[in-house]
Amino acid sequence: MTVLDTATAPRPYQSYVYAYPHKTAYGALRPRPALRDLWAAEPRDSLALYLHIPFCEVRCGFCNLFTRIGAPEGLAGRYLDALERQAVAVRDALGDEPAPRFTTAAFGGGTPTFLEPAELERLFGIAERRMGADLRAVPLSVEASPATATADRLAVLAAHGTTRLSLGVQTFDPAEARAAVRPGQQRTHVETALGRIRDAGFPVLNIDLIYGIDGQTERSWRASLAAALAWRPEELYLYPLYVRPLTGLHRLDPAGTEAGWDEQRLRLYRAGRDLLLEAGYEQVSMRMFRAKDSHPGGPADHACQTDGMIGLGCGARSYTAGLHYSFDYAVGPGEVRAIIDDYVSRPAADFAHADFGRAVDGTESRRRHLLQSLLQARGMPVADYVERFGCRPEADFGPELAAFAARGWLDEGPELLRLSPEGLAHSDAVGPELFSPAVRAAMAAYDAK
Ligand code: SF4
Repeated sequence: MTVLDTATAPRPYQSYVYAYPHKTAYGALRPRPALRDLWAAEPRDSLALYLHIPFCEVRCGFCNLFTRIGAPEGLAGRYLDALERQAVAVRDALGDEPAPRFTTAAFGGGTPTFLEPAELERLFGIAERRMGADLRAVPLSVEASPATATADRLAVLAAHGTTRLSLGVQTFDPAEARAAVRPGQQRTHVETALGRIRDAGFPVLNIDLIYGIDGQTERSWRASLAAALAWRPEELYLYPLYVRPLTGLHRLDPAGTEAGWDEQRLRLYRAGRDLLLEAGYEQVSMRMFRAKDSHPGGPADHACQTDGMIGLGCGARSYTAGLHYSFDYAVGPGEVRAIIDDYVSRPAADFAHADFGRAVDGTESRRRHLLQSLLQARGMPVADYVERFGCRPEADFGPELAAFAARGWLDEGPELLRLSPEGLAHSDAVGPELFSPAVRAAMAAYDAK
């Protein structure tokens, strides 16, 4: 029997670990390594392809993704020009012995559907013709917002084989939409967009919702969940609200925390989780729920611990076994604009090298494997870890796992390392506790910009 160690339990909402190491631990790579060398010895028979569009029609107050409001005259076209130059350079660096094979793909942002239909056609052309991805044969996920999920854009997505359409709704309540600084979102627009998405026939609809908004109650949260469930989405993501540096909400309330906010988020999380489990969904991770009768439609919450990823666009990451890399990262509007302007002005030769990144050595690979597995509800078979690294996870992470067990965050069982329901509820505290000292130091030294 485990004993709950409340004295040392960290606060539940530290950070969302969707990738390790986080971009704020990346640094400038000098000299810049050639992509041809980075990929020379990498397996390329099961790669993920990610294309990043850094434009949105509004800037949500909670959002710290790499994106800007709008694209002034011609910028979207110049961005696609640069994306194409990058795709040509990257495809050339990957070579043909053997040719890369993409087994999943995603367009994210930002808001990919910010692009006009003709621009979306170009985007698909870059993935299909320049990168050689057979998008109709693989799971393909595309993110959209209610305002940009128009019938003509959705028709382009459907024609190219999109299997998963992810809609950022966040809340069906207009007052909460205003409180989360998502200006202009009206429930009727959201419902109409959902109708168009269902009409387009994507196999998987995902709806993103947020809990912990100022003024949100359990009742209003349940009402948003019920409104989402009326569409029987194949997937739902429930995100706790964070107030991060340089976001709109942070500018309004730099202190960022009010008494009881952690408790509010935990309470709403549990209410949402229970409601979805009762409604026939299974929990995939703290945030992700999937209808039991549906199939995965895309690489969301992708937890393949070994496959490489090719990211195109100025906010995208790429992963080889030994290096994670991207371009520079920012949240503040001026810095984001400067990075995008730099990206669109780059000549083709400039895309043949990695700019910013972080080496992922053997020890970090073990952390990444454990993190990505443990944060999934199904947990990590110990045998998988032993097979890959030659020892049991307790040998590498004894103190961390003992602390989780002491807090009641692990299910007992020698051959499956799995978070308990309370452990899963505390995923955003579990993840950061597994960061290495070096990654913590790099993140602490990062100046938000
Ligand atoms: S949450 Fe989505 S729609 Fe809102 S600013 Fe961020 S990327 Fe854009």
